[in-house]
Amino acid sequence: MEKRIVVLGAGESGSGAAVLAKKLGFDIFVSDFGGIADKYKELLDSHGIGWEEKKHTEELILNAGEVIKSPGIPDEAPIVVKIKDAGIPIISEIEFAGRYTNAKMVCITGSNGKTTTTSLIYHIFREAGLNVGLAGNIGRSLALQVAEGDKDYYIVELSSFQLDNMYEFRANVAVLMNITPDHLDRYGYKMQNYVDAKFRILQNQEPEDAFIYWNDDPIIKRELSRYKHGKLYPFAEEKHQGAAAYTDNEMVVFTEPVPFNMELEELSLTGKHNLYNSMAAGISANVAGIRKETIREALKTFAGVEHRLEKVAKVNGVEYINDSKATNVNSCWYALQSMKTKTILILGGKDKGNDYSEIADLVKEKCSGLIFMGADNSKLMEFFGGFGLPIADTHSIQECVEQAYRMAKSGETVLLSPCCASFDLFNSYEERGRLFKKHVCKL
Ligand code: ADP
Repeated sequence: MEKRIVVLGAGESGSGAAVLAKKLGFDIFVSDFGGIADKYKELLDSHGIGWEEKKHTEELILNAGEVIKSPGIPDEAPIVVKIKDAGIPIISEIEFAGRYTNAKMVCITGSNGKTTTTSLIYHIFREAGLNVGLAGNIGRSLALQVAEGDKDYYIVELSSFQLDNMYEFRANVAVLMNITPDHLDRYGYKMQNYVDAKFRILQNQEPEDAFIYWNDDPIIKRELSRYKHGKLYPFAEEKHQGAAAYTDNEMVVFTEPVPFNMELEELSLTGKHNLYNSMAAGISANVAGIRKETIREALKTFAGVEHRLEKVAKVNGVEYINDSKATNVNSCWYALQSMKTKTILILGGKDKGNDYSEIADLVKEKCSGLIFMGADNSKLMEFFGGFGLPIADTHSIQECVEQAYRMAKSGETVLLSPCCASFDLFNSYEERGRLFKKHVCKL
């Protein structure tokens, strides 16, 4: 009998993995402890794949030869513990799909900047006319794309959770943006476990592969020598020995394999964090042999990613920017730092134990007003109340945009960069960003 594969979690990655497994002739079953979205049920049904929802039936799971687990399911979930106790190997969808493609893999991980950098690299490869797919945490599942016809390159965004269940997968180009504490609840509250997960992106690299990383990150620098890796391509703001990209005199300089430069002003994405993202993307394309003219042009024309410093509209000389994805203080720091005019900052939401002192100096320097938007704004009021800035205390997106319209003067910027999760007033940061844009467009 053919090998039985069980997929846990029928989201984008799980249902894609199931379709690929079915196509390859495995005995395949999908189990989801929550409800399965209609579009995935239809996909599974159309391929004749058996599934269950709102339960895990052990007799149908513990007879598997291998389990493909969605990255969202923690190791402590009772069914995962039982699968491990039964000695059944658990892998990720990316690991599974990687076995059945010869495409070159460009993989991006890090605590911040993954989606932006992944999207930017994809944009450059597409502009270069390559047969390329976007996968991982964004886009369509890698497995489904492999099932449907495969590509020459995949640009894959990898979270630490995905990396946790990857073993043989080889990243031909690995990009590590940065490592700052995140998701420690899933790593036994040990930073080293999280760091180790991120560095799994290097496992199986061969000398001819490339490792692109932010040279100024103290953790990456400290840990690098512990791992086997391909050729090193570090990037940094300042020039240093061996840098594959750095800035010099208002220019971004790329050094290898093909040397070229462009003006900082020409980069379509603004802010220091986006400079790093642009450097990482430019090096990835350079390493892949894309012409420097194409890389330059693509770095100029990239439209950006929704909800990340996204320009919404200019109304009465005021620029409105949606940075709803800034769900922590550090992200807001980078956003504020990139502002070129006086700014009305909209912040607030579900506070995850934030320490606002990180942005205090920038708020004093850049802001001409603050708008709090959350179910409970008392902590913000307490921290920023004494700054001497005009403050509006709002509890809905509509109220917030009205106040912004009233407060902002021509030539200023209104920036939604909330430092907080959205769940007190919205379903997600995407919903918060979309509603913000909707109300701004009505002004
Ligand atoms: P991720 O996919 O890792 O969550 P995103 O590209 O979605 O990252 O960016 C999320 C937020 O993180 C952005 O709104 C921005 O404020 C911040 N950010 C983006 N790139 C970087 C970077 N290279 N370093 C630090 N912060 C960044």
